[in-house]
Amino acid sequence: MEQEKKRRLRALPAVHEVISQLEHEEEFSPFLANERRFPRLTQGVRQVLQKARENVVGNFTDSFEEFESSLWPWLKTQLLQELTRSETSLRRVINATGVVLHTNCGRALLAPTVARFVADQAERYSNLELNIETGERGVRYVHVEALLCHLTGAEAAMVVNNNAAAVLLMMNTFAQGKDVIVSRGELVEVGGSFRIPEVLKAGGAKLVEVGSTNKTWLRDYESAIGPETALFLKVHTSNYRVEGFTHSVSGAELVELGEARGLPVMEDLGSGSFFDGTNFGFPLEPTIEQSIRAGLSLVSFSGDKLLGGPQAGIIVGKRAFIERLRANQLTRALRVDKLTLAALEATLRLYKNEEFEDIPVWRMLSLSLDKLESAASELVAALARNSNITVDLKEDVSQVGGGAWPTVELPTWVCAIRPKQGSVMELERFLRLGPVAILSRIRKDWVLVDVRTLLSGDMEEIVRRLVDWRGESVS
Ligand SMILES: *Cc1c(COP(=O)(O)O)cnc(C)c1O
Repeated sequence: MEQEKKRRLRALPAVHEVISQLEHEEEFSPFLANERRFPRLTQGVRQVLQKARENVVGNFTDSFEEFESSLWPWLKTQLLQELTRSETSLRRVINATGVVLHTNCGRALLAPTVARFVADQAERYSNLELNIETGERGVRYVHVEALLCHLTGAEAAMVVNNNAAAVLLMMNTFAQGKDVIVSRGELVEVGGSFRIPEVLKAGGAKLVEVGSTNKTWLRDYESAIGPETALFLKVHTSNYRVEGFTHSVSGAELVELGEARGLPVMEDLGSGSFFDGTNFGFPLEPTIEQSIRAGLSLVSFSGDKLLGGPQAGIIVGKRAFIERLRANQLTRALRVDKLTLAALEATLRLYKNEEFEDIPVWRMLSLSLDKLESAASELVAALARNSNITVDLKEDVSQVGGGAWPTVELPTWVCAIRPKQGSVMELERFLRLGPVAILSRIRKDWVLVDVRTLLSGDMEEIVRRLVDWRGESVS
């Protein structure tokens, strides 16, 4: 035992030997070529060799030959992991969960053309707040306003940091110190940190609840109107549904009541969508345009949910109302930066040109079962050679995420993986802790890789990572 340990320790290369080996490895060239990064490389090699020394102790399940042949790949993977870790805090993650709008993984992905436009805008000066014609100061919202009006039929539009900020701004501008009437069935909490009652309070407005959880009638709104009433607020229930014995009041009905009583109607549409969903095979979802047509004064929605753009809170509606929002001091604190506006403008252009397929969210949501099956089969085939795992092609369901279509189950195909040694929990962790974090999901005794949310290069990375799986947590 002791002798075997010494033999293994002797087989470990020295720091300079590892570094000269790395000169043949392309992944490491950025570190070898850069003087500032080189010390990090040396440091990383030392750390990894230390880890190897600790690992060698008392771990002789394999033969010396096996140990020797797996040593170099192991060192390389560990080192790459160490280096990526020390490079940045924000890192690439492979989303194999099948949740398209995964809030923890950054929600919507931008289209490649959109991302390039953002990078270009980031590196150069622009006319962000400049009217090129007159040479005078301009308004940053003009870059997206016409597009938003075109797509929703609204008179005017503006953009703030996110939809939570949009609702806060609307309430603060129009209902500070006054009452806002909301149906009890719409007092939702979204993602744990956004609750309608709290946002109203933060905006300085007082909530007046009407109706019951499952039923609210127009007369409930009507009888709640008092001298302090500022407006009616409708909220999309996003991540939950009340089914069965229910009734709610439509935007159009509320607008009619509002007009008779001199009260505006505003709406938090949550995700919001430019389509009703049926063209992609989804259940009918009210569109932003429908709310505008119903006569609502202001409607807000997120930029990075179904819209498939950057994080933003978009507000569309009647010009006089948008102008009052812009005049509010809070707007300055909630304003969006040029990169967000660049990403939003480029994404909205894709809608205007009907290039929906280029928007990653819609491409992933509309993948055909045939395509999903063939992608999952490809992964299953690539993993079939790996003798440390069992793989199988299975049908499962993906999710839209982001609070959109919560009850919709998207049929999908997955590559199901079971370790021959060790548990599925350990395998899930092993995938997550690799050089590139791979997020999978566990169902029963299988780790599932849902191909719906994979991007190019992801499959190769998954196959490569699993080569190192030995049934124990090496990392
Ligand atoms: C998601 C959501 C929000 C919050 O939007 P963010 O853009 O994440 O701030 C607010 N209201 C509803 C109904 C939502 O679904």
